[in-house]
Amino acid sequence: MQELKGIGASAGIAIAKAYRLEEPDLTVEKKNIADAAAEVSRFDEAIVRSKEELEKIKEHALKELGQDKADIFSAHLLVLSDPELLNPVKEKISTDSVNAEFALKETASMFVTMFESMDNEYMKERAADIRDVTKRVTGHLLGVEIPNPSMISEEVVIVAEDLTPSDTAQLNRQFVKGFTTDIGGRTSHSAIMARSLEIPAVVGTKAATGTIENGVTVIVDGIDGDVIIDPSSETLKKYEEKHSAYLAQKAEWAKLVNEPTVSKDGHHVELAANIGTPDDVKGVLENGGEAVGLYRTEFLYMGRDQLPTEDEQFDAYKTVLERMEGKSVVVRTLDIGGDKELPYLQLPKEMNPFLGYRAIRLCLEEQEIFRTQLRALLRASTYGNLKIMFPMIATVNEFKQAKAILLEEKEKLVKAGVTVSDDIEVGMMVEIPSTAVIADQFATEVDFFSIGTNDLIQYTMAADRMNERVAYLYQPYNPAILRLITLVIEAAHKEGKWVGMCGEMAGDEIAIPILLGLGLDEFSMSATSILPARTQISKLSKKEAESFKETILSMSTTEEVVAFVKETFNK
Ligand code: PEP
Ligand code: MG
Repeated sequence: MQELKGIGASAGIAIAKAYRLEEPDLTVEKKNIADAAAEVSRFDEAIVRSKEELEKIKEHALKELGQDKADIFSAHLLVLSDPELLNPVKEKISTDSVNAEFALKETASMFVTMFESMDNEYMKERAADIRDVTKRVTGHLLGVEIPNPSMISEEVVIVAEDLTPSDTAQLNRQFVKGFTTDIGGRTSHSAIMARSLEIPAVVGTKAATGTIENGVTVIVDGIDGDVIIDPSSETLKKYEEKHSAYLAQKAEWAKLVNEPTVSKDGHHVELAANIGTPDDVKGVLENGGEAVGLYRTEFLYMGRDQLPTEDEQFDAYKTVLERMEGKSVVVRTLDIGGDKELPYLQLPKEMNPFLGYRAIRLCLEEQEIFRTQLRALLRASTYGNLKIMFPMIATVNEFKQAKAILLEEKEKLVKAGVTVSDDIEVGMMVEIPSTAVIADQFATEVDFFSIGTNDLIQYTMAADRMNERVAYLYQPYNPAILRLITLVIEAAHKEGKWVGMCGEMAGDEIAIPILLGLGLDEFSMSATSILPARTQISKLSKKEAESFKETILSMSTTEEVVAFVKETFNK
């Protein structure tokens, strides 16, 4: 038995066999071969085996994930039958007397470069297919196994160095009971997604892949951030009991599912949820969410080979608005960049992607992408209570520009006879310190603010939210952060505007009494945090929380604040 300490990123206990999800080593070396005919038949064999494998994956994908995902594998099968790709590889093996893996690598990369440079979406997709297929065939030639997470058909705990948001989106909840990673923090997007999928997760263990073998039993304790490898029967029993206790606690929270969120002294605050896809709305309603406070639309753009069309987006936004039945839905426009990449946009690699060309910066530059999204949103606006906000605003001019583009698109649609709602509130994320400092200047421009503490903290403390080594600087209760939040709330209220918070801090047990006292109007969090938060708020007095505002803001360290809150509120 061994134990690893990490960061509890998604609550709950998972016990299952380990499944290592690794990027395989597919390094190819050039070798001279003597028998070209034998090498060609080795290549043919690898093709046959890749096809057999893909047929199985395709069948499985059709059953478990639907036609869309299955179509991806049909496209891969087509590539594997295409003589235009296969013949040049075989010719290269024979004429250059080189090994099959090298001939494949050279030929494939020539096609990939050629297709990617074309200004044609269809050809760009083919380049992505060739890249994927080449990986699979090379795996067979080298005798290296390529993991197929979508094929998992028994209960497992995923063990990986890191999981990208699109890896996470593809995890099958039926079989993936939990996951643990070497890197990442509480606010990395795979952690956020684990919470909306309600999969227990421990991230940032530093050593998961170095310690955990495939198939060994693993306990993931997402409540306390522990991972236990090959547990004794006694430990197993202890964690089974902890799991039952957690389920019982959840049942207790569930009693408030249809209740409003009201403090002990009768003040209502709104408890909203953060979502990434229309499917997440189910979890929001099951957990008693009163609104959607953040719809991260970038997930619509991920895990695919090209931009979503206006109609695809319209369908997604309409679905969310309809399913929320008139409750408020705050949709954030595309926030790509940082740990959320879109390979098909082929943006140049940057030294500091979190500080780079991303989110609203990219949207104001690549306006067609932005305008398409805005049109889809405007068209969907009549199906519910839509609010729109822009991410990563740094300057007043950026906000004005983004809003002007929105109004231009609205005017064009209205002229074309499309009905667009007349009361769409337009707001912005406060996640760059510059905006908090001059929140008074922004407050006259916006209808609302939503404070994105995941980024606000990383930028204020200059500590990468993905880096577990500086995780100690992720300090939501640091007075520097609390004062910035206060500036925003006071500036907004002066102009009669409302303020929400959609960073992970909004659902944090220590932060909640402080934020209530600072006057936050809306708390938006992972759906699973809503009921514990509602229970907590029902036991707090807003008046009392307000009376401690000055005391807390005058403190100098996180530790002081935490000790005070624990003693005063969370007894
Ligand atoms: C934030 O930065 O707090 C936020 C809510 O946005 P994201 O986590 O998607 O960056
Ligand atoms: Mg952010």
